[in-house]
Amino acid sequence: MAYTAVDYGEVSVLIGDRLGAYPYSNSLLVRGATASLVVDPSLSLIASPPPADLVLVSHAHEDHIAGIGGYDIPVHVHRDDLPGLRSRAALVAGYGLPPEAEAELDRMLRDDFHVQERPDANGFEDGTVFDLGGRTVTVVHLPGHTAGHCGFLIEPDGFLFVADIDLTSFGPYYGGADSDLADFEASMRRCREIDARWYGTAHQKGVIEGAPEFRRRLDAFAGVVEKRDAALLAFLTEPRTIDQIADHRLVYRPHVEGSHVQPVERRTAEQHLHRLLRQGRITEVEKGKFRAT
Ligand SMILES: [Zn+2]
Repeated sequence: MAYTAVDYGEVSVLIGDRLGAYPYSNSLLVRGATASLVVDPSLSLIASPPPADLVLVSHAHEDHIAGIGGYDIPVHVHRDDLPGLRSRAALVAGYGLPPEAEAELDRMLRDDFHVQERPDANGFEDGTVFDLGGRTVTVVHLPGHTAGHCGFLIEPDGFLFVADIDLTSFGPYYGGADSDLADFEASMRRCREIDARWYGTAHQKGVIEGAPEFRRRLDAFAGVVEKRDAALLAFLTEPRTIDQIADHRLVYRPHVEGSHVQPVERRTAEQHLHRLLRQGRITEVEKGKFRAT
């Protein structure tokens, strides 16, 4: 396990194994005149963590914090994601899995991701600035994936790290217990407005150069939400329950297995149903059964 460093201005992107595809992710090393920081220390940093003065975390998910054990320095995360960094039990709870699946997830976080609890972790909020001397890192709160999910704008380089607004064909993930589809969409609109030179994602799409290309890819990524709406509407030509919709699937392909699939599908379906109900595009024909209008 090792990373590959690629520089964008004075921002080093530490590309994780398998181009940062899960369970890996991409980290950043940002150096100023007086201090340096690492963003999202991944599994790929465990073997040789680059020295730094502090760690910033975009959100409390295992692939973004697996390398924290290599650092005995202050760790900062948005205050809404603090519990998941401070305790593994809170991190597990954030996934909203049934109890029997929680034990397996807890084992995976401990043994495969080496998740280290950081009860000393500090909270930041939107607009918090970390001054590294001639270089600043500004927190951009982008909730939806998790409640505390954040991006970081690094200046003067003009590098915006957008973390798990990751531009993959999978599309936005808002199936966690603390996820929110409306927040996710507002966050995509917000980072669409930010003019940067580079846009760094946490996973296999890597770094996108220039706002026009970023916006094109972001629109395609956001379009997956509309595709899920369309798939759901097509399925609701007959009255269906949430369980039937979850079994039919809006998020995962049929071959994907695991105890997370059902709860994620269910929470995703619920959020789409509420939206389509509000828009008058579906009706509840009897208690718990929905059909397209
Ligand atoms: Zn995540």
